[in-house]
Amino acid sequence: MYPKVDLHIAGEWRGARSGKTMPIVNPATGEEIGRHPVAGIADLDEALEAAERGFRIWRKVSAFERSKIMRKAANLMRERADDIARIMSVEQGKPLAEAKGETLAAGDVIDWFAEEGKRAYGRVIPARADGVMQIVVREPVGPVAAFTPWNFPINQAVRKVSAALSTGCSVILKGPEETPASCAALVRAFLDAGVPGDVIGFVVGVPADISGYLIPHPVIRKISFTGSTAIGKQLAAMAGQHMKRVTMELGGHAPAIVFKDADLDKAVSILSANKFRNAGQVCVAPTRFLVHESVKEDFVERFTKAAQAIKVGDGLDPDTRMGPLVHDRRITAMEGFVSDAQASGATLRTGGKRIGNQGYFFEPTVFDDVPLTSRLMNEEPFGPIAAIRSFAEDDEAFAEANRLPYGLAAYAYTRSADTAERVASQVESGMVSINHHGLALPEVPFGGIKDSGYGSEGGSEAIEAYLNSKFVTTARA
Ligand code: NAD
Repeated sequence: MYPKVDLHIAGEWRGARSGKTMPIVNPATGEEIGRHPVAGIADLDEALEAAERGFRIWRKVSAFERSKIMRKAANLMRERADDIARIMSVEQGKPLAEAKGETLAAGDVIDWFAEEGKRAYGRVIPARADGVMQIVVREPVGPVAAFTPWNFPINQAVRKVSAALSTGCSVILKGPEETPASCAALVRAFLDAGVPGDVIGFVVGVPADISGYLIPHPVIRKISFTGSTAIGKQLAAMAGQHMKRVTMELGGHAPAIVFKDADLDKAVSILSANKFRNAGQVCVAPTRFLVHESVKEDFVERFTKAAQAIKVGDGLDPDTRMGPLVHDRRITAMEGFVSDAQASGATLRTGGKRIGNQGYFFEPTVFDDVPLTSRLMNEEPFGPIAAIRSFAEDDEAFAEANRLPYGLAAYAYTRSADTAERVASQVESGMVSINHHGLALPEVPFGGIKDSGYGSEGGSEAIEAYLNSKFVTTARA
């Protein structure tokens, strides 16, 4: 049932020239379900040549025609959603319903970019002299190297590929080695819809080898990366040395502030759902829960009950609400956070342990009264662990929200318009969601500030990163 995973280079699906492969593991069982090719220099050189040819072809296709092809790809994703969702659930672990939702949402992302690409307008600037015409033309930046992770194998890739294609760029996508087949299915949908074979390359292998070759390569004009802050800084530095345009969607440590006038039912149900969605392996997951002291105990009790009610299991089981972590390194990471939190004096309210010894399951975990010195309050857990603390004065909560170098997402619950306004204006974050979880729609900006990166992967901002502005001034001959 799990498909063969190939590279896609110059219109051909094939293995690596070297024949090297690496295992793909089902995180719910720990068993090998397939192998992916390991792209080497020979493969990357062919992919780069194709991307150069593809760019020359695709930039000449009108935005209108590109849009039509992209919309076909969106529909193919919808038609194939059941099959793709099963593949994603098996390789990534998330519940089938979430995998299907992600696949269907990709259709919306593609549709949105397909439309937005038609509106990459330039402008006319009034000239000082008679007979002079000054215009700004938007041109595609060139072949793109996109690096995407395993937590949302399709969602992270579709934003980058759609933005590139809608503006006339070619793209080499380095997909996630843990979850390559669902990501490859996205590439297949674009190709089946009519995107020429040279325009999209798909490679997997050893991430550092691939990024170390593609980023400095003169054919590549733009880099987009989603992943950890540590790796993002390395890749941005490399891109800087070669003067490449960069979009970085990196780690976060989202504060979720629950004020004393919050609707607690709503806060608990929305925040707990989003804390444990995808087993907490979400860059915008709420992580530091800052709860007003007058409602803290009530919040913790209800939040803990919500965590305990989550059915953990194989993503293919229809009753499962939370699947396994993606690989065994995440289990080790969670155990490290738990033992450090306990040693630092935090109170464990529920969870804290691996479940069984088959697959990479971990209990939904809640810590209360977590000291600021604990790793949990400073490093991104990227897993199913919530850290709760109380605050007395609102300014304390704002100071804590802004204490870390991250600035991706922030959440707040309050019935006061005044407090909501202060959250919006005082919290240093690329995205602020108040009284609901309203992030990540294709039409709204998605991105961080500070160590969480720069650039946006949604909204009209998203295609800006794939366009150059060319100024043309012409005087009467
Ligand atoms: P990791 O840092 O080894 O890998 C994270 C992602 O970056 C993977 O997709 C990997 O293929 C890629 N990567 C790693 N080194 C690379 C390189 N030199 N060049 C190009 N790509 C590279 O960590 P991991 O154990 O797989 O994941 C855990 C950490 O990754 C978490 O702490 C989290 O912060 C981060 N992460 C973030 C996101 C996100 O959505 N922002 C997604 C997945 C992982």
